[in-house]
Amino acid sequence: MNSFEDMGLNPKIVGALDDLGFKKPFPIQERVIPILWSGSDVIGQSHTGSGKTAAFGLPILEIIDEKNPAVQALIVVPTRELAVQVAREINSYAKNTYKRALALYGGESIYAQLDAMRERPQIIVGTPGRLLDHIDRKSLKLDEVLCVILDEADRMLDMGFIEDVEQILRATSGAHQTALFSATIPQELLKLARRYMKNPREILIESIDLNVKEIEQHFLVTDTKKRIESLIRLLHSEKVGRAIVFCRTKRDTFWLNRMLHERGISSVAINGNLSQGQRDRAMEAFVKGRSRIMVATDLASRGLDIDGVTHIINFDVPDDPYSYFHRIGRTGRAGKKGIAITMVTPPQRANFERIQKVGGNVIKNAQIQREVPQHSVATRTSD
Ligand code: AMP
Repeated sequence: MNSFEDMGLNPKIVGALDDLGFKKPFPIQERVIPILWSGSDVIGQSHTGSGKTAAFGLPILEIIDEKNPAVQALIVVPTRELAVQVAREINSYAKNTYKRALALYGGESIYAQLDAMRERPQIIVGTPGRLLDHIDRKSLKLDEVLCVILDEADRMLDMGFIEDVEQILRATSGAHQTALFSATIPQELLKLARRYMKNPREILIESIDLNVKEIEQHFLVTDTKKRIESLIRLLHSEKVGRAIVFCRTKRDTFWLNRMLHERGISSVAINGNLSQGQRDRAMEAFVKGRSRIMVATDLASRGLDIDGVTHIINFDVPDDPYSYFHRIGRTGRAGKKGIAITMVTPPQRANFERIQKVGGNVIKNAQIQREVPQHSVATRTSD
């Protein structure tokens, strides 16, 4: 399976995924989407950052009927942050359709939520207590629900919500399928699954391929304002043969490339906005060694196979662990050693910690010891 299109998803949704930069399904999506779409129950053992929101969100969007204003999918999550995040994510997949998700959580006025319910969202994402509150008030009717998802079920168990979850499952009267996602599947969850699920397919998603033993991984805490200077120092103090510096946006690649040029460092920018000819020229300058630094977006990292990349520098922390491992996998190829350095600014800390956790805390704190030498490693060229 190569693309969301091949999976048979609605072109309107594929278009929205494309806008989000989702080019290919992650492994969990490849495995879970067809099963949920076919109507089966699923127990998915997976970690945060694996892409599970789309793994259940996309089949839900296919299953529900746009013309029916009833609630047709219920997603139960442990925290309000997750409720908001999951609803937002699903709405971004659904932006070209009339299907909508609404988050219902405690701590927000119930009246505002009752108002929002009048818009007739077909997908409800909520925390257990507030969902029960709406069920009691009859503002949430579950008789047309086709699909129930329990997300981060182990956290709901730890937080003491399991009784509430059972009550919600009992209140979901119509014929429906059920999926449970959890990082661990303790006995209590298995019991719950036995009681409320029909022949669930169990899917274990291995953590991301962490086969990056040849890569030395470091991080560098830096101020947003001082980031450029830290990068320059880094480029001077490291023995850079060839480095790819990753940025979040196309604009940032142009901007950073210009800043490097202004400081006498030869670099090229590569991103999806360039014409094929411009990309080829930039790539050639990099491959032939005229420019030792390539400033790239994530998109450019996929499928790039260039020999002798000694350093990967994340000027921005990637959004998710997959991107991180994709990026750093551009070095340390064919048994050669590589170095990956991730610059972490205060707003990017949480994202970085997620990546650090998935990777097993192997990314070490880097210290730049040397001052900027007189002669830079890279010379200015006209690229
Ligand atoms: P999740 O585990 O659902 O929170 O997803 C983790 C991160 O991966 C989120 O930032 C998603 O937007 C992103 N993501 C999920 N699926 C894909 C995909 N197929 N391609 C690119 N990014 C994705």
